[in-house]
Amino acid sequence: MTVIKAKYIILDDGKYIENGAVVIEGTKIRKVGAFNEIKSSAENTEILDLKNTALLPGLINTHTHLDLTRLKNRIAPTNDFTHWVFQLVGARARWKADDYAASIKEGITLCIESGTTTIADIASSGHSFSLLEESPLRKVVYKEIIGLNPDYAQKIIAKASGDLSDIRATDFYNIGLSPHAPYSVSKELYKAASRLAREKNLLVCTHIAETQDEIEFLAKGTGNLPVLLHKLRAIPDGWQPPELKPLQYLSEAGVLDEKLLLIHCNYLTDEEIALIRSSGASVAFCPKSHRFFGHKNHPLLKLLGEGINVGLGTDSLASNDTLDILQEMKFLYTHYLLSSETIFSIATKNGAKALGMETHVGQIKEGFEADMCGIRLAENATGNVYSQILDASSKNIFTMIAGSVCYYANE
Ligand SMILES: [Zn+2]
Repeated sequence: MTVIKAKYIILDDGKYIENGAVVIEGTKIRKVGAFNEIKSSAENTEILDLKNTALLPGLINTHTHLDLTRLKNRIAPTNDFTHWVFQLVGARARWKADDYAASIKEGITLCIESGTTTIADIASSGHSFSLLEESPLRKVVYKEIIGLNPDYAQKIIAKASGDLSDIRATDFYNIGLSPHAPYSVSKELYKAASRLAREKNLLVCTHIAETQDEIEFLAKGTGNLPVLLHKLRAIPDGWQPPELKPLQYLSEAGVLDEKLLLIHCNYLTDEEIALIRSSGASVAFCPKSHRFFGHKNHPLLKLLGEGINVGLGTDSLASNDTLDILQEMKFLYTHYLLSSETIFSIATKNGAKALGMETHVGQIKEGFEADMCGIRLAENATGNVYSQILDASSKNIFTMIAGSVCYYANE
């Protein structure tokens, strides 16, 4: 048994315990309460005192691509999404296996040091599966699948099924499929991916409603995306636009359900928001990546108002300067009309729900997995505890995953 003591233990629904402690046994939280009550039953037990720190459930990153970590500062912020894709494809074309491996390892370290305990990562190669499996992070690794030619859908799915067949999901490590986006995945491939996911109990995520280019491409087949896809030889001869909105495309493909994670959702009509709500799907919002591309007015407040589950993601370092979810929370606090308590929920239990882990991850609660992070607060901070956590000077100093200390910067 171990006892973690902190100035504040952050609970659900705006509650917290001052001078609190958490008792850890094995991988789980056994007890949560005031330190004075816990210490009498904690004789001969190791006590770790985090002092002027708020102990939170571990932060959850619902969307990233760790295999792009080495692209940090290599591509400038831009409003031109297709040019960004072109730069990304060009940079990766020169990469070797070592570059992918180094990227993923650096990404894992950055996540753990910033208090993230669970990630949802997109794997464009097999390296992500093997390296993340070895890492202490709790994770869902999604195999990325791409193909706009419907004739190849079955072949692509058969290969993905084979690639995933040897992987055994555990409490730490779940797997999924990520049909990339509606401008790179045919309706047939979405359907086949959905069938395989239901058969093998896999999670599914997809990039959706990310740009105005995507909306124009699906509606009329015009704009920047077909130019890019022709350059990449990624559009089949005779391809015709489906004349649908992005969420309608997913709905017609039959993939919209409560296990689906919708990445971005930057541009949605009210009808599409209704489709998401009735499906029970979750949304991964990436605030700083959203700003990187100069998008305006994300419908975040509308989605939350409709009761849709929204988690936070960083996206990759090809479109962000950080993998730190606390930074994303601070960005939300200064740029969106949300309370610090709501932002805390988005980054913790909403993320857990988006990844199907809400029964055992995302809260500091007896019986839950001991995934936690310790945010060091400013010395003389006063006021709302949740706001103190989102103060510019706060910083993660402690990361525990399944009862193991993975990072502790005791300054
Ligand atoms: Zn992405």
